[in-house]
Amino acid sequence: MAKIGFIGLGNMGGPMALNLLKAGHDVTVFDLSADAVATLRSAGASVAASAGDAAAGVEIVVTMLPAGRHVEAVYGGDEGVLACADKGTLLIDSSTIDVATARKVAGLAADKDLAMVDAPVSGGVGGAQAGTLTFMVGGEADAFARAKPILEKMGKNIFHAGGAGNGQVAKICNNMLLGISMIGTAEAFNLAEKLGLDAQTFFDISSTASGQCWSMTSYCPAAGPVPASPANNEYKPGFAAGMMLKDLRLAQEAAAQSKAPTPLGNEAASLYGLMEAAGKDGVDFSGIIKLLRGDL
Ligand code: NAD
Repeated sequence: MAKIGFIGLGNMGGPMALNLLKAGHDVTVFDLSADAVATLRSAGASVAASAGDAAAGVEIVVTMLPAGRHVEAVYGGDEGVLACADKGTLLIDSSTIDVATARKVAGLAADKDLAMVDAPVSGGVGGAQAGTLTFMVGGEADAFARAKPILEKMGKNIFHAGGAGNGQVAKICNNMLLGISMIGTAEAFNLAEKLGLDAQTFFDISSTASGQCWSMTSYCPAAGPVPASPANNEYKPGFAAGMMLKDLRLAQEAAAQSKAPTPLGNEAASLYGLMEAAGKDGVDFSGIIKLLRGDL
């Protein structure tokens, strides 16, 4: 079993670290939150005094932090992960962050001969608890091969997306497409309804015609046709509009840097921004249909 340092024990990192413990790994944890640390300590984890301390004397470091600036802070500096990790340590950053920072930190790791992968996830808190996350991994093939057995203790689908940063690229491109397709689906159901075509009948037709997509058949924004969708549970998340907005903004940042035109991604970010401005970023992202109905 491996010696693992785990930094960032929030809604996602906490249950992910628990799954590594359950799998029999020797896990040392660090978080700024004493409560988060206490939960892991009582489950059998060792507790480090700092991020650097958690990264020293282990074979693998996993980080699960809010954003790029937290990742830079935890990895950088004299007391950070890069300064304190032993030679040969594998670094896995599972945070969802901007592509540029992911590539920058991977470059700094390579300068120190430390293998690193970016491995953002989809699947939410439920997936983190159940150990069924999807990991999208960017990095060298050797590093991916070393990371895979560890990621398999926290997830079900582990994809190698290519070189450094490509895990983040896969995640933001997928979620940009999802945001756009959800808005399109919501527009179509709202228009159908306004013109006197009920949601179930429109669903029966469109889900077997060329308008069919995941946002319709698995997560329909109109109540009725897909019983498990948040539309039938007062739009409780699920996947909150605020988290969709975070990913859409990361996609816009990357689009600007790479000069890729993403006019619909830009519009999707603006529309989810309206949900945020209305204080509804905690509503499921399929609740965008309520914005269109004037009923947010
Ligand atoms: P969270 O805010 O619940 O947890 C982040 C943790 O990081 C907190 O416990 C915080 O104390 C800790 N932290 C922050 N700075 C630190 C530092 N310098 N040193 C040590 N610990 C530090 O966030 P989360 O929901 O667990 O999300 C983590 C990442 O996963 C984010 O990038 C998010 O976008 C991504 N993600 C979240 C979900 C979800 O459903 N929550 C789904 C997919 C991806």
